Amino acid sequence: MSFDRISHRPLPPVPDRLWIGGAWRTASGGGTFGVDDPANGSELARVADATSEDAVAALDAAVDAQAAWAATPPRDRGEILRRGFELITDRTDDLATVMTLEMGKSLDESRAEITYAAEFFRWFSEEAVRVTGSYGVTPNGAGRMLTMKQPVGPCLFVTPWNFPLAMGTRKIGPAIAAGCTMVVKPASATPLSMLLLAEILAEAGLPDGVLNVVTTRSTGEVVGTLLQDSRLRKLSFTGSTEVGRSLVEQSAANLLRVSMELGGNAPFLVFADADVEKAVDGAMLAKMRNVGEACTAANRFYVHRDVVEEFTTRLTERFEELQLGHGTSGADVGPLVDASTRDKVADLVGDAAERGGVVRTGGEPVDGPGYFYRPTVIADVPDDARILREEVFGPVAPIVTFDEDDEAVRAANDTELGLTAYVFTRDLDRAIRVAERLETGMVGLNQGIVSNPAAPFGGIKASGFGREGGAEGIEEYLETKYVALATGA
Ligand code: NAP
Repeated sequence: MSFDRISHRPLPPVPDRLWIGGAWRTASGGGTFGVDDPANGSELARVADATSEDAVAALDAAVDAQAAWAATPPRDRGEILRRGFELITDRTDDLATVMTLEMGKSLDESRAEITYAAEFFRWFSEEAVRVTGSYGVTPNGAGRMLTMKQPVGPCLFVTPWNFPLAMGTRKIGPAIAAGCTMVVKPASATPLSMLLLAEILAEAGLPDGVLNVVTTRSTGEVVGTLLQDSRLRKLSFTGSTEVGRSLVEQSAANLLRVSMELGGNAPFLVFADADVEKAVDGAMLAKMRNVGEACTAANRFYVHRDVVEEFTTRLTERFEELQLGHGTSGADVGPLVDASTRDKVADLVGDAAERGGVVRTGGEPVDGPGYFYRPTVIADVPDDARILREEVFGPVAPIVTFDEDDEAVRAANDTELGLTAYVFTRDLDRAIRVAERLETGMVGLNQGIVSNPAAPFGGIKASGFGREGGAEGIEEYLETKYVALATGA
């Protein structure tokens, strides 16, 4: 197959306006902005460029809808989510085309994200009816203690471009299940998937005003305006640690409930007793899923000296089999999202090579329009290389050799970030000991993917706080109210 940066599919019909209070509206200033295909830089569509006034209108709609939505029977909320799951599944083909065109990854990867995204609706359709409270007797026997769970209230969701649908559904699903209303601000590089989701949820029967979608290029101003509005009760953000820090600070003014899903710097540890072929399979997933643009992407490979050459050689061979090209062309690896992401990858690879790393394959961008970077393996990466500290967000596997378990664990923890880690070993004791010592919110044991809607996803340290998915996911959208009841001794 030859390299091809031209789309093989047209853009399916997608809404291009703001979704506020159950109506499609143009931006109050009349502005629009372009959405580009990262494989060739061509403009795919133009969408409404919301002002702060539009954002306030979206919050007005969410506030107006909140009381009735909270009072809607949990089963009804769950059934809407279930219909949402079914409609997303039915429309996978259109959604995958839209996602690939705006974000770049292959159609197979987009379909996988759509399945993952839809599963959050199925999971939380089942959780909606399992929200309970408690009943207890006070220690002195003179009273009773009741707790009840109630929706937090209107929420703001700010989502990134790398998983344009799933990073939305894992907030929207539990919020709908819990009875919260919301304003969603998708990334400006990839707003189309979220606009299509708004259309799908309306078709699923979601009442007007429960979900509102605001696309904008005036991001800081629009988000800042909403954070200053005391009617907002919760912020859930997925994105970079740098922006997350600033949003936590801004959320302090109104003491918002906050969930933060931030950057990662995942270590991938391969011990001497690992099944190397299985580790290479895991590395392909942990590194190459989403063209390396995932917060869970393996960022640093620590491999025991006894197996490092075998692992490096096999990984290099597998990378060289990958076909680059437009995501709709049948290629395995699409472009990176934009020029600055590609240039950062090139910069970090250049730094590692200058400091003594050996580029075994790749190591350069593809010339011409679009933001392609060749899958790259760098061996013998020295400790001082920036790529071991900074999130590379691209198809690059830097490999470091280790001798002792302690050395590997220390190196893995030597980062301010703590989202995911991967461990490959056939020794159960070692697996548990290492998993316990890793300073991350998640660990993949002999597998290169951890994401699962039924499991609690999230990080520690500068990777954020809060959990999405699993039984924990809905708690982010619930307050506990305690009722003290005097009964007499
Ligand atoms: P980003 O630059 O932080 O952007 C994320 C979102 O924040 C976008 O909607 C963006 O809007 C918005 N934003 C940017 N600047 C803002 C500001 N000053 N005030 C308010 N909102 C602002 O991150 P990204 O480049 O899209 O995504 C990549 C990052 O997300 C990586 O670090 C990755 O690890 C992390 N991530 C984490 C998880 C997780 O679950 N932990 C999952 C996926 C990604 P615009 O698009 O309009 O700029």
